[in-house]
Amino acid sequence: MPDSEFQLIQSYFSEPGQAMAFEQARADVVLGIGDDCAIVTPRQQANLAFSIDTLVSGVHFPHDTTPAAIAHKALTVNLSDLAAMGAEPAWFTLSLTLPDYDEAWLQQFSQSLFSLARKNNLQLIGGDTSHGPLSITIQISGYLEQNKGIQRSGAKVGDIVAVTGALGAAAIGLDIALQQNHELYTNLSESDKQYALNALNFPQARIAEGLSLQGIAHSALDISDGLIADLGHILDASHVGAELQLEKLPLSKPMFKLEQQLAWQKALTGGDDYELCFTLAKEDWPLVRQKHAQFTAIGSITREKGLRLYTAEGLLYKTRSGGYDHFG
Ligand code: ADP
Ligand code: MG
Repeated sequence: MPDSEFQLIQSYFSEPGQAMAFEQARADVVLGIGDDCAIVTPRQQANLAFSIDTLVSGVHFPHDTTPAAIAHKALTVNLSDLAAMGAEPAWFTLSLTLPDYDEAWLQQFSQSLFSLARKNNLQLIGGDTSHGPLSITIQISGYLEQNKGIQRSGAKVGDIVAVTGALGAAAIGLDIALQQNHELYTNLSESDKQYALNALNFPQARIAEGLSLQGIAHSALDISDGLIADLGHILDASHVGAELQLEKLPLSKPMFKLEQQLAWQKALTGGDDYELCFTLAKEDWPLVRQKHAQFTAIGSITREKGLRLYTAEGLLYKTRSGGYDHFG
């Protein structure tokens, strides 16, 4: 470690005097990194949304993940929580636990972190640094229009269930990164595998999509643990059920080369995609779909509890409220 954390923070995380300095610091930040607290002046008449996530090496990402991917993912999982509420990113703090003082690692980490932050008009305003097994905690906050946060509990019987993009690639990427289940992927080319690894390591938080759903979606969340598990949270919180048509699931590109059942299984249960799943009134769907060609309607909300998965041939799987009973 350097003489003090001070040097590390100064070199890699402070705005002045380092290559990744923000071109434009946010006007609402009164005091950023360097004092006991950061100070901001929030907009009047707005709500603030807060979220925090920790990524532990070997638990939330494989040990050999690049520093650029770790930074990207640590920030994206937080951005994605804001996206799911329809919030606009504003500030974040960073708690870093580092096994050693590796300048090349820190350089790549901070470059990737600031690059993504800048794209989202998001400013790092403080943090903490300590010594130990690699772990990254980011706490993010952002603006919500007053009482407009999209919650999990708002789904209504008759709503369309939709997702913002293709599913499943990150789960394949994880198998590839961990060098497991080779036999499932013999049809994939090198470029398919790269695509899947990229989906795992550089997921995109759907901030603009979340903002555009504000005032329209009745409920939403981001898909971090797989569609079945996450949609289950909406169903439980809203006291409703859902039925999905599996043929409508938007599958990620490499998945068209997989067996149908395997592709569906990955799209339904694979985590780490960070697309949004949301519900909205049937009458609002055509206009939303017209604005967002990448959104897909996959089913509808039902009074009957639990989740039912249909194919053209009929009912394929049935789950109770909460977890699912069986798959395949
Ligand atoms: P304290 O002793 O008050 O906790 P620290 O020495 O931990 O202060 O931090 C000094 C300043 O540097 C604080 O403003 C803190 O927010 C900031 N800071 C520390 N670590 C980080 C980090 N990893 N990223 C961003 N800011 C950091
Ligand atoms: Mg501290």
